[in-house]
Amino acid sequence: MDESYLILLLIPIFYIIGWFIWYFRTGGIPYNSPRIISFHKITNKPEFGGTFCTNSQFKKFMEFLSKNKYITIDLEKHLNHYNDKTVSIFFDDAHEDIYNNAFPIMKTLGFTGVIAPVTGFIGEKNLWDRGGGVFRHMNEEQIRILSENGFDVISHTMTHRDLRKLTDKELLYEMSESKQILESIIKKKVDYILYPYGLYNNRIRFFAKKAGYKGAFASYNKSNKIIDKYAMGRNTMYIIDNVFDLKILIERKSLLLYGHEETKGRIINWFSRFSEVIKI
Ligand SMILES: [Zn+2]
Repeated sequence: MDESYLILLLIPIFYIIGWFIWYFRTGGIPYNSPRIISFHKITNKPEFGGTFCTNSQFKKFMEFLSKNKYITIDLEKHLNHYNDKTVSIFFDDAHEDIYNNAFPIMKTLGFTGVIAPVTGFIGEKNLWDRGGGVFRHMNEEQIRILSENGFDVISHTMTHRDLRKLTDKELLYEMSESKQILESIIKKKVDYILYPYGLYNNRIRFFAKKAGYKGAFASYNKSNKIIDKYAMGRNTMYIIDNVFDLKILIERKSLLLYGHEETKGRIINWFSRFSEVIKI
């Protein structure tokens, strides 16, 4: 048998196994958690990681949310009083293109978002990322303007390193220093943190609490039945996603399709941790 046929046969087998692993490990659709949709870059300039959406793609997502009466509210309020029409729109890393491209679209439709700047890179280029040096991060002024326009600002550490590999001292520095810097920029409390690459363990959860955060965000829920305040899950949208993918995620149906979306997202997210080592 030709080897290429064997590979073609293995892909759906791995995918089906992946779906069942998702179902048995998470317990299915997260009915009892707030809806959080996440983005990285909104730009027409392609990048190889695939963690971007184009401007028109993002506009379609926002128009879908608006047309279907979804609303964005203050993050704290959302985490405590969510319903099936409230949503948080996250922007990992707070790239400048969010300010230039996403913000005007959202403002027109009356949406606010949540930005997670990496404080060591404010106003700088994204040197840790694959294809680094191409995308600039928001500067202090842009972060302040978004905050004044109702956006929430959360920490994403100082240097975007895998927190699991840091000493206790480094960990506390990454979490506390970034909190202080952001609070001095926006003159508001910064109560939440987003773990770089969504990677965490019990020690990191403990330090997030110790550094004064009320909660933290990971990439996906470990269990979709019990929501961990220090590892809340999100769903990230990528260049391969369209409005139908968003509709499945936001409406949380059906089990088969939702599982497909999460399995797909988790696989892409798993590869994203290598972005700092694969420089091209
Ligand atoms: Zn990040």
